[in-house]
Amino acid sequence: MSADAVPSTGGDEAAAAAVGRGFEEVHGRAPEGVWAAPGRVNLIGEHTDYNDGFALPMALPQTTVLGARRRTDGLLRLHSAQGDGRVTELRVAGLAPGAVTGWARYPAGVVWALRERGLPVGGADLHLDSSVPVGAGLSSSAALECATAAAYDGLYGLRLDGPELARVAQHAENAFAGVPCGIMDQMASVCCVEGSALRLDSRTLDVRQVPFDLTGHGLRLLVLDTRVQHDLADGAYAALRAGCERAAGLLGVPALRDLATADLCAALAELPRDLAPLVRHVVTENDRVGRAVDALTAGAPEALGALLTAGHASLRDDYRVSCPETDLAVEAAVAAGALGARMTGGGFGGSVIALVPVDSARAVRRAVTGAFAAAGFAAPAVLEAVPSAGARRIA
Ligand code: ADP
Ligand code: MG
Repeated sequence: MSADAVPSTGGDEAAAAAVGRGFEEVHGRAPEGVWAAPGRVNLIGEHTDYNDGFALPMALPQTTVLGARRRTDGLLRLHSAQGDGRVTELRVAGLAPGAVTGWARYPAGVVWALRERGLPVGGADLHLDSSVPVGAGLSSSAALECATAAAYDGLYGLRLDGPELARVAQHAENAFAGVPCGIMDQMASVCCVEGSALRLDSRTLDVRQVPFDLTGHGLRLLVLDTRVQHDLADGAYAALRAGCERAAGLLGVPALRDLATADLCAALAELPRDLAPLVRHVVTENDRVGRAVDALTAGAPEALGALLTAGHASLRDDYRVSCPETDLAVEAAVAAGALGARMTGGGFGGSVIALVPVDSARAVRRAVTGAFAAAGFAAPAVLEAVPSAGARRIA
């Protein structure tokens, strides 16, 4: 593979065949079907989803592929190629928050969340394999949940629409896995389409597909995985969320989404010093999503660059969720010719995206790798983000 080639994900057909074979080895017979759900990068609109705001994610070509077959004995038997080799066996009727630990709580949580909605789902054999880097801020957790939700929807004939599947997946992550995430990751994993970014309204779950033609404009979107593991289950994310809710309460609005840019200055003057920067980030970030959508709609994706870099500064200085590695990746990428760069995902590590002219891709990659080596950081992993399809049945 050349220094900056797209990593091959082999295509849906090959992935379905490989997971079908893996399923037979683990469970002793063929799956009834195979489903895939992607990881994502968020172009802009970070920490806005739980403020009822806007975001602009796109799905990655990297997916979690999951083979499934119903069982009639009420057992859920789970196996991951990225797990410890063992099959986790659970009784569906006994699923409850706190009862399952480790990775199995994500797929088990989806089954629990479906049953919480009163849907008539039972047991299944599941086997999965994923090309989404785990813990890199590219939402392998949502890919796992959404692949499970799509598989159960197909197996049990539920016919849930995209936003309903995303809500089930988010409920699983929040209430069963114990991670207080918003809805953006799951909406991206379910609702994205190839060639477009997804303009998401987190309050209504209205979505709009916004064509994002990188190649036609001589651009590439690099993903620089800093390999710093974030942990959204830790208290920082929950504290930020609580801070935003407290600020909305003090300002007398249902959510920070309801604060207009024109009212920001007056609002900041009213708020305690610890809350004002959070509010400034959320309001300016929602505004940046609108500008980014306008730029893509006008056929000017290069105009995203400045918005990405401004978004990063806001996350670093106001929201304070960046870290030395993400800051350095952004700085080195921009200095080497990227049009703009920012951390993507919840922060405290994870990945940086950099919008680069094709001719600068190699130089940007080299510059970031060199800067990391000079700083004594572990070498970053580099992928290329190509706007790809959301969750789907592939066999
Ligand atoms: P991210 O979503 O950014 O990758 P998270 O911490 O939210 O990071 O989710 C990562 C967790 O999701 C892993 O620790 C693991 O429990 C689970 N997970 C994701 N993908 C897989 C997989 N293919 N096999 C097993 N567990 C997985
Ligand atoms: Mg996650």
